Amino acid sequence: MRRLYFFPTPYPDECLYSIFCRYFVRSGSTSNKKTIFELFGEAQSITSFVYLPRRLELVDGWVGPDSLITRERLANSNSCYGYFSIAFTEMMLREMEEKIVTGGSNRSLERQMIQKCRRSHWPEYLRYCPECTKEDIESFGETYWHRLPQLPGVEYCPKHGKAIQNSSVHLKETTMRFLPASHTLLKLEGKEKAEKWMHKEKYLMIAKDSEWLLMNGRRLKGCREVARKYKELFMERGLTTAQGIRYTERIKSEFINYHGEHFLSQMFPDRKDPLYWLDFAFVSVSEHLRPLHHILLMEFLKGSAEGFYKAVPDNEPYGNGPWPCINKLCHHYGKDGAEKISVSYFNGQTIGQFHCAECGMKYQRSRPWQTFEEYADHAIKLDYGHLWYDKLRKCILEDKLCPSDVAKAMKSTKKTVEIRAAEIGLDIRVNRRTRIFYSKGKQVSADMYYHEKVSEVLEEHPELTVKELNELVPGAYAWFSKNDFQWLKDRLVTDQEKVYWAEWEQEQLENLKEAYATIQKEGDSNRRVTIGWLCTVAGLRESEIKGRLHRFEDIRAFIGEVVESKEEWLERRFKVVAKKKKELGQEIILADIRREMRLKPNTYKKYALFIEMFIKELNGDNRSESD
Ligand SMILES: [Zn+2]
Ligand SMILES: [Zn+2]
Repeated sequence: MRRLYFFPTPYPDECLYSIFCRYFVRSGSTSNKKTIFELFGEAQSITSFVYLPRRLELVDGWVGPDSLITRERLANSNSCYGYFSIAFTEMMLREMEEKIVTGGSNRSLERQMIQKCRRSHWPEYLRYCPECTKEDIESFGETYWHRLPQLPGVEYCPKHGKAIQNSSVHLKETTMRFLPASHTLLKLEGKEKAEKWMHKEKYLMIAKDSEWLLMNGRRLKGCREVARKYKELFMERGLTTAQGIRYTERIKSEFINYHGEHFLSQMFPDRKDPLYWLDFAFVSVSEHLRPLHHILLMEFLKGSAEGFYKAVPDNEPYGNGPWPCINKLCHHYGKDGAEKISVSYFNGQTIGQFHCAECGMKYQRSRPWQTFEEYADHAIKLDYGHLWYDKLRKCILEDKLCPSDVAKAMKSTKKTVEIRAAEIGLDIRVNRRTRIFYSKGKQVSADMYYHEKVSEVLEEHPELTVKELNELVPGAYAWFSKNDFQWLKDRLVTDQEKVYWAEWEQEQLENLKEAYATIQKEGDSNRRVTIGWLCTVAGLRESEIKGRLHRFEDIRAFIGEVVESKEEWLERRFKVVAKKKKELGQEIILADIRREMRLKPNTYKKYALFIEMFIKELNGDNRSESD
């Protein structure tokens, strides 16, 4: 696109549309279309430039890269971006900020922005303050379209206190036409509607807050951050539970009380439920709020948008410190000693983290209403702290306490102590004393207990490694290594042996596959394929395979694939019989099955129903095929 020869210097609070209008006039253009092509290089609807900083990628072409008129300045001072940005999602905001910096074209963002901002009910006509217009002419020799009067809810000029007037320019007319204010605002009006005048102070507040947001809205960082702050401020006002669940009805009635029912019905005349959006104020759906909603909420909470921005939520869902330490070994336990690390909100929970400087324990709570007795044992310990670990080391290494005494000394459970000890490389069981063993309800010696238990396990798992044993019978290995190691050694397999077995499996798998191939080629096709048959052909004992199936996954898979269940076998054979009969043009009947297959009476009886259904099915197939 060709560089423009000049670009009008923007006036204070002038919207982009107005700048383009002045360009149109000063360039002496007589064709709207021609000027639109000069500016955008293509057809472009220009209405949205009343509000939005669009097509910023073209700014270098409008003003040249070294101009003081930058994308940043146009977005900030000549569009309503700051105002609308408080309703933007994090993603839109990020993309827009990026666009302002890089000037990259982003059409989908533009579409989203228009969609979002249109929902704000743009007024029907371009509007103006008569006093501002007079001042413009005095200062600059011409007037222009300001941003502020175009915003919904702005009914009075905050500077002059005058009622905002509709011009004769309908917003729809601006789609493809440059209609400069200096040509339009020849006769200034001063109408003031009684119902607006009734609430002049309220409208002035909205105008002031709209103005503040135009200039500062970006500092609020989008609807998510705003919603987060709403939640905190609602909480501060006692309008939510401690966990942040809002009291819907109370919020509504206090809100109506603050703004006045009459004023609100004027602001939202079309809706049956004009305050439906109050329910959206908190995080997840807050993007549905319009800037005007935000303004009313901010005023309700902190008097103004600026007040809202500056407010620091006074929020202590966990009360005021010092908070109790929850380390039972610490002399601050249950009393004090802990400081707050943070309070944050996550997934609807109020997470508080605390730290005792004395013992180093850090813990986290998520239910602010619980009493100390309720949470002390359940709070998540983020760090047990130096005091706790030092004592644990002493118990195990110096005092040589047995596990249950360690737990007692630590005022904790054996399990907790065991896990924590393992973390610092200690085993609480090193000082274990004789345990009492029971077998089948009777007290027995450790000797008997372990021999019995391991023998039992070995029956089920003939090839057991040390690791597996430790899982199945904890403590057994340690006992045997002190007392009867040879016995255990003779019965366990090592990892090397496991390798041997793995090789053995692959070898036998090959054998079995070969056996299966032989059966397929030369075996009696009437015979059912079973593990026994496969083993016989492969030269293996059936028990060698069957007894180890649970361990040999590959063999197990292969067997599962080729060995036939009784039903599978019957089915296979029926099909052969049926095929023969079909070739003769006959249906298969029960007598055929009896004669051809020579089933044992028991087998026949057991599978009678299955056989009957299958015959029907096969005959059905035959018929439909011969039709
Ligand atoms: Zn004014
Ligand atoms: Zn402590």
